[in-house]
Order: sequence, then structure tokens, then C-alpha cells
Amino acid sequence: SIVVTGATGHLGRHVIEQLLEKVPADQVTAVVRTPEKAAGLAARGVRIAVADYNAPETLDGVFAPGDKVLLISGSEVGKDRVGQHRAVIDAARAAGVALLAYTSAPGSLTAALADDHRATEEVLTSSGVPYVLLRNGWYHENYTENLAPVLAHDAVVAAAGDGRIASAARADYAAAAVAVLTGEGHENRTYELSGDEAWSFAEYAAELSRQTGREIVYNAVSGEVLVGILTGAGMPEGFATVLAGVDASIAKGELAGTGGDLSRLAGRPTTPIAEAVAAALKD
Ligand code: NDP
Repeated sequence: SIVVTGATGHLGRHVIEQLLEKVPADQVTAVVRTPEKAAGLAARGVRIAVADYNAPETLDGVFAPGDKVLLISGSEVGKDRVGQHRAVIDAARAAGVALLAYTSAPGSLTAALADDHRATEEVLTSSGVPYVLLRNGWYHENYTENLAPVLAHDAVVAAAGDGRIASAARADYAAAAVAVLTGEGHENRTYELSGDEAWSFAEYAAELSRQTGREIVYNAVSGEVLVGILTGAGMPEGFATVLAGVDASIAKGELAGTGGDLSRLAGRPTTPIAEAVAAALKD
């Protein structure tokens, strides 16, 4: 079976949709912690396994020998994500799975956000389980799903200077994961996944201007100012600091790599940022 954790999340839903285009539903298992969110998948014949990364005993019996597993990294801020991921890896190893792919962060990323991913990679690569590191770059949606403050102020605010971002759509990263889960020869490989083209926040603001007919500018601020703006809007300081750290990494070019692993795995070019902007403005 092909087993996908985090299957009711944004990325997981894309992965399941694209898997169902390639394999019969009864060969796909969605691991979810909230079964109500998976009712639609169950109705389509996808097998549902209920488990929580925080409760290792719930992972017993989820995996079977020969399974190919996609571990989608957890999203709970402040939780021991490395411990959560270790619980999944331990259960997969005990079951004798054939492959475990993990959604990690770019190898070039030094921001604190990457720490849990580096530690999980270490757990996985030393586990003896055949692994794949899917080092996902940034999602277009990190920006295009957060347009409300941009449109309210006609300004894109970031602490990233002239840094460039090779982002791609979640659907693109899902396509790469599906290629690995349904293809051959990926054991113990590391893929640096990113968009084919990198853009700067100034270019992003220009694209928003073009598509809205308004004058939207890029307001480059310091990390300290960004944290002040985000906490002023209600974001907890810890999370705002993490985001400012990501912008500092962007300023240094750590998310600008366009090595092409993503489009090679997906077998098609990545989605242009302009397309994600258009989709977001239509909603
Ligand atoms: P989502 O938050 O939409 O999905 C996270 C998924 O993980 C959800 O299905 C959630 O379950 C599940 N999950 C979280 N905690 C647990 C737990 N304790 N036990 C079982 N399942 C759990 O994120 P995305 O799909 O957009 O992204 C996937 C992951 O990628 C994120 O979790 C995060 O680690 C990382 N990420 C990457 C970004 C990037 O730009 N590359 C940006 C943001 C996040 P439920 O559906 O029940 O909530």
C-alpha cells in the first residue's frame, strides 16, 4: 500500500488526489488524526488509518511490510516535532516498510525553522529504513494565501532585502512526492525541490500591481520591524521571530536555488508564481 500521513492537510490532499489518478483507491492509505475530515476520502474507497504523532501506540498496525510511506512533517508549533516524526519512523521500521519519504526543508536553509527537519533527517537516515528526503522549498501559497494585509495597505512587507525565492505550488511538491511513491529507484536519494524560477519581493509586488491594477510596493524592513508588525497584528512573538529568521535566510539567498529536481521528478515545469497570484485573486 501507499501510505500518506497528514493526508487531510493542504499538501496531503494534493498528494492523495494525484495518487488517485495513478493507483486504485484501495491501494492508498490516508493516515489522519481527525477522521471526520477524511469522510470524503473514505467514501472514495481510500483506506483510513487514525493515528496521532503524539501517541506512538496509535501508530501500531498502521504500516505493513512493503508499504511505501510519505511522512508529511507535523505542523504543531511548540510540540516536539522530532519526537513526533521519530514515532512514525519507528513504527514504519518495525513494520518493515519498503520506503519512507519525508517532507524536509532545503539543505541550504540555516533558519531555526530548519532545525527540526535536519534532526528528523538524521533520525531517518540512521534508521535503516530505505528513505527519500524530499527537501521542499517554499510554497507559493505562503504568500498568495495571505494577501489580505497586502491589499489592505498596497504593500508587501518583508525583511528579505533583495533576496529571491524559488517557490512552487503545493501541487508541484505533491507531484514530486507522488513520482517517488509510484516510481522506482529513489531509495536513499535526497531531492532539493524548488520552483524553476526565483523571484524577489519587488517583482512579486510588481506582479500584484499588474494583476490588480493598483500600485502595490515592496516595503523592505528590518527583522526587528517585521517582528513588531506581526506581533502588532496578533501573531505570537515566537512565531514572528521564526518568520523573520526565514526572511533573513531569503535575504542571504538560501531559498533561491533552482536546481530543477522538482520539475524533473514531476515531469513538467513548476507553476509560475503569477498563476498562483491569479488563482488567489479569483477567490
Ligand atoms: P497543514 O498544516 O495543512 O497540514 C499538516 C498536516 O499534519 C495536517 O493533515 C495535520 O492533521 C497533520 N498533523 C499535524 N500534527 C499531527 C499530529 N500530531 N498527528 C497526526 N497528524 C498531524 O500543512 P501543509 O499541508 O500545508 O504542509 C505540510 C507540512 O509542511 C507542514 O506540516 C509543515 O511541516 C511544512 N510546511 C512547509 C511549508 C513550506 O513552504 N515548504 C510551509 C508551511 C508548512 P489535521 O488535518 O488533522 O490538522
